[in-house]
Amino acid sequence: MEKTFAIIKPDAVERNLTGKILSRTESKGFRIVAMKRVCLTLPEAEGFYHVHKERPFFKDLTQYMCTGPVVLMVLERENGIKAWRELMGATNPAEADEGTIRKDFAVNLEKNSVHGSDAPETAAFEISYFFNPAEISS
Ligand code: ATP
Ligand code: MG
Repeated sequence: MEKTFAIIKPDAVERNLTGKILSRTESKGFRIVAMKRVCLTLPEAEGFYHVHKERPFFKDLTQYMCTGPVVLMVLERENGIKAWRELMGATNPAEADEGTIRKDFAVNLEKNSVHGSDAPETAAFEISYFFNPAEISS
């Protein structure tokens, strides 16, 4: 079993898509082993996306992540990191495969409805950024 970190982003929470996304997540075999719905502060969003701080979209991205509540989750599944990225689809929804969350729900490249860790090291950092070990129950 492998843990990954996921976010349902403000555009999806705002459009009441939380339940639909959770339903797809569970039906694809992920166990939701931790979850909370919060509003991120700007410093929290900036710290979370620090790897992108030199990118031209950093300011817009971090501000967007604070426009409304998000749902933070730790997901567990065999091959969880790769499997969750496959279920999310490509970063740009215009390039996402049929049946992926981004293809079906994302608004655009920025408001793309979900986040997922891209490697074991980032998953470990991202999980510990938002959750204490005691909040995670496999
Ligand atoms: P995430 O990290 O959110 O799971 P990702 O790994 O598919 O997405 P990244 O390259 O890590 O994509 O970009 C992080 C986020 O920044 C994207 O999900 C998207 O919301 C935003 N983003 C990426 N590229 C652009 C861009 N060119 N213009 C605007 N926003 C962008
Ligand atoms: Mg990424």
